Amino acid sequence: MPEKTDLIREEISDKLKKAGYKLTPQREITVATLIENQATLLTAEEIFMAVKSKNPSIGLATVYRTLDLLDELSIVNKKQFHDGLTRYDVFISSNKIQPYYLVCSNCGKMQEIKGDMFSDVSSYIQTKHQFVVKVQDVTFHGVCDSCQNSERV
Ligand SMILES: [Zn+2]
Repeated sequence: MPEKTDLIREEISDKLKKAGYKLTPQREITVATLIENQATLLTAEEIFMAVKSKNPSIGLATVYRTLDLLDELSIVNKKQFHDGLTRYDVFISSNKIQPYYLVCSNCGKMQEIKGDMFSDVSSYIQTKHQFVVKVQDVTFHGVCDSCQNSERV
């Protein structure tokens, strides 16, 4: 889906510009890496490895600074999981559908799922409690398919 990716890239570039930042090559590579890996939640270390494979001259500190900046501008969503690691997720309005997360309590594998099954929940909350939902943070804990297969209980 190249069109959607371009939209996301553009929106991120806009947000940076409005906040007075340029989309430098280092930032651009970091942003591109996040967009490419939207379906998986990467740690800063994993993002750094992917960025480094594209441009070996970019250091870990630069990637950390970029991630901090993106977090500050609400371009990424920092998620802390029970394994103690922080993972980053691109979170912008072009992604109209908010993700939800599946976490395997056996192997720790995390999946980000896109689906609009919660739009009904949001409107229910708004009607019932006069509360406008801006961000949903939904995480399901359970057992992933490969763990189910290997356990066969
Ligand atoms: Zn598992």
